[in-house]
Amino acid sequence: MFVYADHAATTKLRESAAKTYVETAAQYYGNPSSLHSSGQQAKEVLEDCRARVAAALGGEAREIYFTSGGSEADNQAILSAAYAGAKKGKKKIVSTAIEHHAVLHTLEKLKREGFQIVLLPVGEAGIVSLNDAEAAIDGETALVSVMFANNEIGTLQPVKEIGALCKSRGVLFHTDAVQAVGHVPVDVREIGCDYLALSAHKFGGPKGVGALYCRRGAPLTPLIEGGAQERGKRAGTEDLPAVAAMTVALEESLREMPAEQEKLKKLQTMLIEGLEKIPHCALNGDRERRLAGNTSFCFEGIEGESLLLLLDEKGICASSGSACTSGSLDPSHVLLAIGRVHDVAHGSLRLTLGAENTEEDVAYLLKAVPEVVEYLRNMSPVWRDLQEGKRKYIL
Ligand SMILES: *Cc1c(COP(=O)(O)O)cnc(C)c1O
Repeated sequence: MFVYADHAATTKLRESAAKTYVETAAQYYGNPSSLHSSGQQAKEVLEDCRARVAAALGGEAREIYFTSGGSEADNQAILSAAYAGAKKGKKKIVSTAIEHHAVLHTLEKLKREGFQIVLLPVGEAGIVSLNDAEAAIDGETALVSVMFANNEIGTLQPVKEIGALCKSRGVLFHTDAVQAVGHVPVDVREIGCDYLALSAHKFGGPKGVGALYCRRGAPLTPLIEGGAQERGKRAGTEDLPAVAAMTVALEESLREMPAEQEKLKKLQTMLIEGLEKIPHCALNGDRERRLAGNTSFCFEGIEGESLLLLLDEKGICASSGSACTSGSLDPSHVLLAIGRVHDVAHGSLRLTLGAENTEEDVAYLLKAVPEVVEYLRNMSPVWRDLQEGKRKYIL
């Protein structure tokens, strides 16, 4: 059995997107900046994609800038707003404690440059409060950046309310919607955002391509200098095959969204209710206000990394919350932000389901995960101490 349950990390390329990628690369190889017919045909395809991506998000074509992915879009939005703010003496940025590193590390860079960074708490539910956001915004605030949906625990943030708040206070608003686009309805006008980041590989498009929505009139400065591509805001010959494949993947994901959401919601309920039967565990993040594909748990007395390795041996691709990939032993900043203590945060498991997953997959997960958790607990000295009453259970 093979179960891919790591769709928040990346998704399989859709067949329609793969086909479009190959066909576009073969047929429209001209450089969109060239004046000859081959270049102009490529340019036409590029602008058609821009209009279609804009339509999918409720914006205008001229508000869409193609990028190398979500990280680049986040960086460009935040740095553009920050430097524009600084010119007017506004050097405060309000964000949340659970943002993706593409946002957090950009904010850390700005902090080193003298900006004041305020990270709002999210509480046990993993959702930022509107009151906290309101209280944090003042006359010095250049930008508010709040993600649409969290990548680790799937919680949905009140972006529409925060968008309205920012508008009323005259503050720029960016939302990292990388986990949301293609999975839940996303409309830039409804959110009232000035910037929105998306990434193709999170909804069945290719890796290395994404887009930044930047409202007409909002400040935007290039991260990459060079040619005049993307109206001077992003130099470099456009990756037309990737952009075309992303466009097709986005449209297809919107068409399939209602049916996919219904299916995933059902699988999620099965998975959450099944895993909750494991003693001394807890669901991470709000039960209702979360992406339908996301199930994140902490199991007391185990190490998430060992859990992942043993699940991998059983053909299950999953993820843990901790930043083990970066070689650090720090538990996830998101799990700490929702109040999990270090020991508990280390025992985390993120299962993110997608289009190809079935009820059989969930049944297999519900057999494998409890087995592996029990196996690891039986070997764990911490678990023995807990059972012998030498330590107190936290969960
Ligand atoms: C994946 C992800 C990113 C980064 O996107 P890339 O295209 O991989 O650079 C940013 N934010 C969130 C919430 C993500 O899940």
